[in-house]
Amino acid sequence: MGIFSGKKGLVLGVANDYSIAWAISQKLIEEGAEVGFTHLPGEKMERRVRKLTDPIGAKVLVPCDVQKDEDVASAFDKTAEAFGSLDFVLHSIAFAPIADIKCPFVESSRDGFKTAMDISVYSLVAVSRNAARFMPEGGSILTLTYLGGERVVSGYNMMGVCKAALDASVKYLAYDLGPKKIRVNAVSAGPVKTLAASAVGDADALAGLYEAVSPMQRNIDRAEVGSAGMFLLSDLASGITGEILHVDCGYNVMGSPGRAIEAS
Ligand code: NAD
Repeated sequence: MGIFSGKKGLVLGVANDYSIAWAISQKLIEEGAEVGFTHLPGEKMERRVRKLTDPIGAKVLVPCDVQKDEDVASAFDKTAEAFGSLDFVLHSIAFAPIADIKCPFVESSRDGFKTAMDISVYSLVAVSRNAARFMPEGGSILTLTYLGGERVVSGYNMMGVCKAALDASVKYLAYDLGPKKIRVNAVSAGPVKTLAASAVGDADALAGLYEAVSPMQRNIDRAEVGSAGMFLLSDLASGITGEILHVDCGYNVMGSPGRAIEAS
């Protein structure tokens, strides 16, 4: 019997087996959770996610483009039809047009900014509102953020500003949903090689920076993000809401390059 035995929830943001959402889902399933999934609309996207979810016998796999209110509502309606109520929801979604990610923030386009904020930030609001409809006894909602929302991380550009807005959204949502016993938190993960990360920059170089500078002198692996995400979604974190939990081998506490300089 795992700590998620009898618990049910929806995961938004699995694209493939490199996705952080998949790493967290695996931990949830190991702990006995029943997990439903969404995929981006389209047969190809569905096939890609189904390859992962069929072997684990997932009862729910529904299309959802978070830019569409009706998609978000219907994904939750269908999940609730299968599961009744929900105990947890994972939001692991971000997007910005590549031209806007690659250019300095000051050059960002208005349309690119709107799209990035809609998919990467507003979607958490829409998801949380819909999740709350099916959490009569309370629940836990988790999103994924990055240090680039707190400090300038070169190359992160527009997505850094989205993450700053996402971090603030976590806190306001935690306040709004607290009386309903719904907790809202974020894991701020160190660099993990994924589809989304490949759009942002050189993942190996960033991982090298974490190895050189972080107190633990290494980068995280995706299973560590999986465990921390599972923890925040679980009852073990029952007193935690509005929190941004850094899972980055301590990189975020450094105010200087630390041993990277001492060694040279
Ligand atoms: P990923 O590419 O596997 O996941 C991103 C997901 O967003 C995909 O499943 C994609 O389908 C989904 N998505 C994009 N547009 C969507 C839309 N309109 N509707 C519904 N879904 C949409 O990459 P990932 O790295 O696992 O990213 C997950 C989250 O983790 C993101 O918020 C990302 O910013 C965050 N994060 C990633 C890292 C990293 O190094 N990979 C570090 C910190 C935070």
